[in-house]
Amino acid sequence: MAAGTHSAHLHDHEGHSHEAASASLTKNQKLVLGVLERAGAPLGAYPILDELRSEGLRAPLQVYRALDKLLEAGLVHRLESLNAFVACVHPNCHASASAMVFAICERCGRTEEFPDEAVGTRLSAWARDNRFTVAKTTVEIKGICAACADAAD
Ligand SMILES: [Zn+2]
Ligand SMILES: [Zn+2]
Repeated sequence: MAAGTHSAHLHDHEGHSHEAASASLTKNQKLVLGVLERAGAPLGAYPILDELRSEGLRAPLQVYRALDKLLEAGLVHRLESLNAFVACVHPNCHASASAMVFAICERCGRTEEFPDEAVGTRLSAWARDNRFTVAKTTVEIKGICAACADAAD
């Protein structure tokens, strides 16, 4: 009797691309990425360095070099308004049509990242009309997250 063969539902796309991108990282790059992934909130270069002193990092330049590579690889984003860095929640899954939006809680520092295609399309149209060549699009929203709003009640 033919029992329906239900092939295992492998749902590992995100983990897969992340692993591929982090495979070529140096030790310092892995350390910096690890700090950002654990933090769950944006961190500046100096707090990152403080976390890694026990790992032998001494100079801000070591952190900045690692961050440059991680930014290039799309594993980390820079939040311009805070001059801080966050680990990407979905590395290598950025659709080019979408703008990346970061909602930053000013109370707890938690940052939520999501792509928004409507915003991306709108901004691309403006850029096209104004013959403006876009290098990158990042939208930052600041305010109070749901958890903090609830806690304040
Ligand atoms: Zn991202
Ligand atoms: Zn909050």
